[in-house]
Amino acid sequence: MRIVEAYRAAKIPLSYEMFPPKGEMGLEEAREVLTGLAPLDPAFVSVTYSAGGSGNSKRTVDICALGTRAYGLTMMAHLTCAGSDRASIARNIEALKAAGVENVLALRGDLGQVPASPDYRFAKDLIPQLREAGFCVGAAAYPEGHIDCLDAKENVAHLKEKEEAGAQFFVSQLFFDNECAYRFLDECRAARIHAPIEFGIMPVTSKAQVTRMVFMCGASLPARLVKMLARYEDKPADLRKAGIEYAADQLADLARHGVDGLHVYCMNKADTARELHDAVEPYR
Ligand code: FAD
Repeated sequence: MRIVEAYRAAKIPLSYEMFPPKGEMGLEEAREVLTGLAPLDPAFVSVTYSAGGSGNSKRTVDICALGTRAYGLTMMAHLTCAGSDRASIARNIEALKAAGVENVLALRGDLGQVPASPDYRFAKDLIPQLREAGFCVGAAAYPEGHIDCLDAKENVAHLKEKEEAGAQFFVSQLFFDNECAYRFLDECRAARIHAPIEFGIMPVTSKAQVTRMVFMCGASLPARLVKMLARYEDKPADLRKAGIEYAADQLADLARHGVDGLHVYCMNKADTARELHDAVEPYR
């Protein structure tokens, strides 16, 4: 199903992100994740593409095909354009079409080690090519600004450019303070961005994970979260429980606020996805 249609079918869509497991058993592990996610009746499941410079991109298309064909799920493939030229993206497009993928999240990707692309500077340069190819196209949104663009007005102006280029919906970067999301939403609507914005939440499971995220995406840490990390730093099971509770509170608050959609970065943990699904269900 095209995600714009999935949006019409659900009151507050709830979706999940997974990443292609590494190694020989990648597809088998992905099957396990999908087996856990399918009963949650997700609006869609998105599959990352070489996220964090992992180079882990080969299985994205296979996992999307598996999710659609074996589980009847609405799947979305992420696709980055940094370091690619138009011809290589055209090959990606053919592979996505051959696998029956209907939804693509158009991303620039991190610049890191990759050579400058001759054809794509920003994600907005990729979006028209994907729309022309017939995909339902989403793009990334940053409630606290992208790490390279902390000016709130520019952040929203760049989002508007993505909508004008053809993005039909947005999925947000993670954040730990819902006030940031509400402020961002107001700014987007004031800038006449009308596409649905789905807010992404990642449950905290370790101090190392949070530290990585804060430096990678510039998310701010509310005092409640800092205290939680300090209290349970050396108690992994307690920290996981508290992290799930924190994420569940964020999701329930967003649902009560009537946001367009909720997205869970479940890190391939179907049990985490289920716990958050159950916690947020009464509010949707
Ligand atoms: P863009 O929209 O191109 O923005 C990149 C930077 O350029 C921003 O600072 C933006 O403000 C600025 N900018 C945009 N337009 C202009 C302009 N006209 N003039 C000047 N500056 C401009 N990465 C992966 O590698 N694989 C994944 O699967 C993946 N999935 C993701 C999923 C989500 C929901 C999100 C939020 C991020 C994901 N990322 C992934 C990370 C993403 O690739 C990085 O955040 C990347 O640095 C920016 O990608 P973008 O598509 O937002 O780029």
